[in-house]
Amino acid sequence: MDGAVYALIVNACVALLFAVAFAVIRCSYQHQRAVEWFCAAYAIGVLSPLSELGIRYCSGSALFAAISYASLLLYTLAMALGLTAMSGRPMPWRAATLILVVGAVLRAAIGNGHRDDLLYGLALQLPFVAASTLSALVAIRTVRQRVSRLWAAVAILFGISIVYFATKPVFASTLASGATAEAFASSGYALFSQATGRLLIVTAGLLVMLIAVEQAMNRTILDSETDPLTGVANRRGFERAAARMIAHANQAGEPLALAMFDLDHFKRVNDSYGHAAGDAVIRAFADLLLAMAPRSATVARLGGEEFVVLLDRTTMTGAWHIAQAIRIALPGIAHLPAVTTSGGIAELKPGDTLETLLDRADQRAYEAKFSGRDRIVPVPPDVTAVPLRLVPADPPGAARKAAVKR
Ligand code: GH3
Ligand code: MG
Ligand code: MG
Repeated sequence: MDGAVYALIVNACVALLFAVAFAVIRCSYQHQRAVEWFCAAYAIGVLSPLSELGIRYCSGSALFAAISYASLLLYTLAMALGLTAMSGRPMPWRAATLILVVGAVLRAAIGNGHRDDLLYGLALQLPFVAASTLSALVAIRTVRQRVSRLWAAVAILFGISIVYFATKPVFASTLASGATAEAFASSGYALFSQATGRLLIVTAGLLVMLIAVEQAMNRTILDSETDPLTGVANRRGFERAAARMIAHANQAGEPLALAMFDLDHFKRVNDSYGHAAGDAVIRAFADLLLAMAPRSATVARLGGEEFVVLLDRTTMTGAWHIAQAIRIALPGIAHLPAVTTSGGIAELKPGDTLETLLDRADQRAYEAKFSGRDRIVPVPPDVTAVPLRLVPADPPGAARKAAVKR
């Protein structure tokens, strides 16, 4: 068995291993649907070295040459489509179909010409250059979104692939590559070409796998930091976001304020309308917070019917206005049982930690409950008109207990 044959067998095994690895990733992470493309790409890719072996050892080399060509083209296109799916960009169906059709027509037109003819080689490699360009473009566009540095490596790799496919005809015509498919298969150039191709295919597989694993990990982290009922951050997510926002505010010397909300008499909602209606109110309140808080704010559900909004570049007065607007809007939302909310606000002071900031806002939310509910406490001194809806004073119930538990 000579070196080129050995390389072909290794190529087939490597492609098969990647196909299996991507299948395992797809089964392990339900959200990683794009990985199906890579699984398909490498499964199809197995056929290319196998058909090269067929050219060497079986009759009907024209058929094997066509299979080898088709499988390699489908591999490069599936990679481009998989990368696009993974990046979340619109699928380039038209470009991919065009490359496939042009590739098939070109291949049929040139037939099994002289492999070391420059024009023949260029026509043979053109679809691969185009498919690699598709992958490189997707990677470059994704790099600009700054989602992961790995995309830069993908862009470089497919840039190298473009050069590889574009210069193959030049090498084939200058190095003795053999005029026929059979002669090519046993030439020294075939060994070089297979080895370089294998390197590119292995690197592409590893990079894509790293991105898939990174995306799966990010998704797992996001899930663990998201409240399933409302879709806003849970306590863990809030703590992570808040630590970043507090550090930034301290560093930039910018104000930062926290508004804490607790729905009033929420137990009554559950008791009167049922738990499902209570859930709907909690979801609607979260939506209201998201709609009314600035985009840069962090909205989180700390537990039960207790929410916080952390407002960057916001003073006590700014926080009061936002919290007040939320409080006023709340009773009017949707067709749900009417509820009110009590809120406490606090501004970050030198030496504050998230805990002390939360504690101050919590104390004030308690004061809001104690002084009659349906209000935001305290009213900053520079706020003149206070549109408080007066309600009879009502001693705070178990809400305080819930807050203390935290
Ligand atoms: P206060 O005005 O003093 O805050 O009274 P409250 O009834 O709102 O406070 P309390 O802490 O006594 O009750 C909170 C209720 O919130 C009790 C609990 O059943 C309900 N609750 C907590 N989490 C959920 C949830 O996810 N869904 C629903 N439907 N209810 C919840
Ligand atoms: Mg409550
Ligand atoms: Mg509560």
